[in-house]
Amino acid sequence: MSLREHLLRRIAAEGPLTLAEYMGECLLNPAHGYYTTHDPLGAAGDFTTAPEISQMFGEMLGLCLAQTWLDQGAPAPFALVELGPGRGTLMADILRTTRAVPGFRAAAQVHLVEASRALRARQAEVLAEAAPVWTDDVGALPEMPLFLVANEFFDALPIRQFHRDGSAWRETVVGVEGDALRPGLAPPAPLEMLAHRLEDTAEGDVVELCPAAPTIARMLGARIEQHGGAALIVDYGDWRSLGDTFQAMRGHGTADPFAEPGTADLTAHVDFEPLATATASAHSLLTPQGVFLERLGITARAERLAAGLTGAALESHVAAHRRLTHPHEMGTLFKVLAFHPHTTAPPPGLEPAGPRE
Ligand code: SAH
Repeated sequence: MSLREHLLRRIAAEGPLTLAEYMGECLLNPAHGYYTTHDPLGAAGDFTTAPEISQMFGEMLGLCLAQTWLDQGAPAPFALVELGPGRGTLMADILRTTRAVPGFRAAAQVHLVEASRALRARQAEVLAEAAPVWTDDVGALPEMPLFLVANEFFDALPIRQFHRDGSAWRETVVGVEGDALRPGLAPPAPLEMLAHRLEDTAEGDVVELCPAAPTIARMLGARIEQHGGAALIVDYGDWRSLGDTFQAMRGHGTADPFAEPGTADLTAHVDFEPLATATASAHSLLTPQGVFLERLGITARAERLAAGLTGAALESHVAAHRRLTHPHEMGTLFKVLAFHPHTTAPPPGLEPAGPRE
């Protein structure tokens, strides 16, 4: 049975699905889910990510984590963690770069949170030397200092979406029309969990909620506050969502998210406010990726790498630097939020959150 048929039957039996239920099935259905069956990254895939664009991204994040580790007194052992490691490129770059930091590699136990068996196999090849341990449950991470990166992880978590109707909300649901899957709106209902959004929205506005995100932030924050460490969360989005950001990506362009379930990446912009609110640790100011990478010295690193390149390789290196940092490319759309213990300063490149946040 195809995923489409499975969803048509499920809707016939249970009624329309929330967007979160639909996204969960499309991305992680054990037999047909997009991540369970595909390697979505790279030129032949559907989208690309910062670590796939240039090694400099992982170098900057690796040095940022290692400096934070040194600033916290080089705790050993510690868990070096990535959420949603994709092809393992980011962790490989972090491990390569931090080899230069005495004691870091020896103290690091690598833990990967990855739901896709296909991508776990790929990570096992790329990261064999680090002998990583896999889990699909953030709550199962060890009770020890946690130094963590999550790049384009939270945008893949299922969201629910609501349209303002008076002082109530109509949820986006996925139903069936003929034999096609179609989005629709549930009847209006008041919603306590969206009470705070009545202040900053108007009739017809769309807001989104990611139910898993605060739960994950709470678990990470508790570890970091208790045992030390830091989390660098990088994703596209903003402090608070407004508008429909649900989209499907296929072949590096957008696609109809309801046409062929399981064959496209489904994502939504990340709301950072609920992550910052849920964590028991301190958090940094939300900072644009371009600003963060510039503060960490990406331009000096780019110039040094450029010195060894000519022709097409040089051109693509210059384009990659621009893509990661320029405000019209990923520099402003992508943001960085760090968690860190209340007793420490934020990681390098980030400022403490002001009184507003
Ligand atoms: N961080 C990588 C890959 C981003 S793609 C990069 O920057 O290139 C999203 C990653 O998150 C994939 O590895 C995907 O399999 C994983 N993922 C998505 N939903 C997940 C979930 N609920 N639990 C664990 N991993 C998940």
